[in-house]
Order: sequence, then structure tokens, then C-alpha cells
Amino acid sequence: MSPMRTVKVDGEARYDICIGPNLLGDSALLSHALRGRHALIVSDGNVAPLYADRVEATLLAARPTLSIACFVIPPGEQEKTLARFCQALDALADLGATRDAAVIALGGGVVGDLAGFAAACWMRGIDVVQLPTTLLAMVDSSVGGKTAVDLPAGKNLVGAFHPPRAVIADTTTLRTLPERELRAGLAEVVKYGAIFDDEFLGWLERHADALLAGDDAALSEAIARSCQYKAEVVSRDPYEHGERALLNFGHTFGHAIEAEQGYAGAGNQALNHGEAVAVGMVLAARLSAVLGLAPASHTHRLQALLQRLGLPTVIPAGLEPEALLARMRLDKKAEAHGLRFVLWERAGLAKIVSGVPDDRVLDVLRGR
Ligand code: NAD
Ligand code: MG
Repeated sequence: MSPMRTVKVDGEARYDICIGPNLLGDSALLSHALRGRHALIVSDGNVAPLYADRVEATLLAARPTLSIACFVIPPGEQEKTLARFCQALDALADLGATRDAAVIALGGGVVGDLAGFAAACWMRGIDVVQLPTTLLAMVDSSVGGKTAVDLPAGKNLVGAFHPPRAVIADTTTLRTLPERELRAGLAEVVKYGAIFDDEFLGWLERHADALLAGDDAALSEAIARSCQYKAEVVSRDPYEHGERALLNFGHTFGHAIEAEQGYAGAGNQALNHGEAVAVGMVLAARLSAVLGLAPASHTHRLQALLQRLGLPTVIPAGLEPEALLARMRLDKKAEAHGLRFVLWERAGLAKIVSGVPDDRVLDVLRGR
């Protein structure tokens, strides 16, 4: 029996998320996702040397007449630009891509967002097949159809909703992922438990060591369950008019931390996105307790789990509470009267709360 798991995304856009080891070698599975004669593999300079030849060979084994080209960007968030997006479109033009062509996103969220946006725009929309190779991309960015590039003015400011035709997550690729990136992905996995399911938090507590050790069975289970939570929310609210915003638990604080330390060039000490979200979730839990919404003991439980997973849980030194608050006001989710946060009523039950007074937020940022 194949150890592959399938999570179905329903609603307006229907597609399968396949999760399991060695899926990049599965010719039937990969070729099934392609309709036409052209495929453009988009990848980055870390991932392409490891996996692009493999994907190409797997596809050609099933479809020898396929025209395949590869477009490789340098790794890093600073490459998620309109300039790279234009180059991806040029690569599709060079390939002679028709309306039934597919873009194959092979990499982390940077590649997935860029490739997805190129697919959304080429001839007003062609298929994108997501082959996520980071834990974050497997549990978050490859699912749900958000695509985007960054502008100098801010992250993800230009983009489109463009659901993938299929998501194929080969868990074996996680073996080459740097450990810090794995932990960052685990922060987003914890987020699903915090928002939706107290029992899943318990499962994570019991499997923390296996997950950190890269155990295939534990990772597959964590990915499948995370995708299930995201798939359910996204199928009910594909365009984020309502409950999809719950997925931003920890992100208002997290984005403020990321912005304050500078998105680019802050060096290795700067928190990455998953780490900033880990801190942000603890702050959201503390704010919930300060507002009398949730028991403080639940904050301690969340903090302990994140610490076990090697994630930070306090604001990095040197970031000023007032400056972080100012960043949160600029966040695109801010409103005219007080700030809007995703908080929780208890572990496993998040809710959106508007009109949170600045003073309470500052109390939390000051650690009071
Ligand atoms: P990333 O794509 O930059 O990948 C992280 C690093 O790991 C890169 O250096 C990459 O080259 C390397 N890498 C990837 N896979 C590897 C592998 N298997 N082996 C070795 N190295 C590997 O970062 P990410 O964390 O995957 O994604 C972050 C991006 O995702 C951000 O741009 C964010 O905005 C976006 N995002 C989008 C959504 C969405 O819904 N569309 C959701 C969350 C995040
Ligand atoms: Mg996130």
C-alpha cells in the first residue's frame, strides 16, 4: 500500500493535495496534473540543483513529447519581484506556452507565490501545479490560491487569487531543508492547533521530538492535518471576507516584528517569518489573557510547545514597543477605531476581535 495521503480541497476551486515520500518520482501522479504540451518549471538556485532534473525526468517518462523549460531565480524573499515575474512570463513566451500549458512551482513559498502569479496572468490564467519543498510551503503557501510578488513599498502588494490545479508535497525533500527552515514551518503547524484544535496541540506535544528529527510519518501526519484545516477554511471563505482571517493568528504581531527588524538585510540574527509568528502567537495569547478573554495558563502551554520546537517566544532585544505598535497600525488589516487582532478564547479556539485599545497592546509589548 502506498503511504500517500490525499487531502481534498472543495468549494469553488477543487483540487487534491497529495502528501508522501518520493512523490517527485511518481510519473503517473505528476503527469496526471498536466493537461497540455508545455510545462515551465519555476524553481530557485537551492532547490533546482537538487530536484529539477528529477521532476523533468519523471514527467518525460510518462509524457515523452512534453516541451519542458526551467526558469530558476536566485533564492530569497528579495527575488519575489515584478522583475522576476516578467522574466517568468518571458520564459513562458520562449517556450511557446499555449492556454493549456502548466507552470510547475518547485520550491518554497517564494517560488510558489511568484510562479502562481505568473500562471495567473499568462494568457489570463493557466494551470499551476505546486510542488512545495519547504514545510511552510507544504502546510501553508501552496494551498489556498493566494499568489503575489513584493514591491519596495511592502510584501505581497501585487497578486491574484489563483488556486493550483494540484499540490504534490514530497516529504522526502524535507531532508535537505535547513533545520531552521523546518522549525519555521513547525510554527505555522502549531498555529493550526492554536486556532482550530486543542487536540492537535496535544498531538504536537507528544510528537515534538519526532517532528524535529524529521521523522517521515510524523511530518506526513502534521502536514496532512495542517492542510485539512487550511483546506476547510479556504473552501468556506476563498477570498478572505471572513473566517479565513483566523489564519492570521500571531501574524499582526509577527509582521510588526519582521517589519521593524527590516525585511531584507537584517542578517542572521533577525527572526524569519515562522519565528516571528511564533513570538506573535505568544503575544496574541497574552493579549487574549490581558483582555480577560482566555486563561493565562493556555499562553504558558503554547509557549512551552514552541520552546520545545526550538522557536523563540519573546520579542528580540532592541525592538521598541511604540515602534511595533506603529507598524501594526500600518498593517493592511488595521482599522480606523482601535486595532483588529486574531485572538483566542482558549487553546484551539481563535476569534477575531476589533477595537482593541492601544494601551492593552502596549502592555503586552512591554511584557506586563
Ligand atoms: P523560501 O521559499 O524562501 O524557502 C526557504 C529557503 O529554503 C530558501 O533558501 C530555499 O531556497 C530553501 N529551500 C527550499 N526547499 C528546500 C529543500 N527542500 N532543500 C534545501 N533547501 C530548500 O521560503 P518559505 O518559507 O518556503 O516561503 C516564504 C514565502 O511564502 C514568503 O514569500 C511568504 O510571503 C509566502 N507565503 C505565501 C502564502 C500564501 O498563501 N500564498 C502563505 C504563507 C507564506
Ligand atoms: Mg505565515
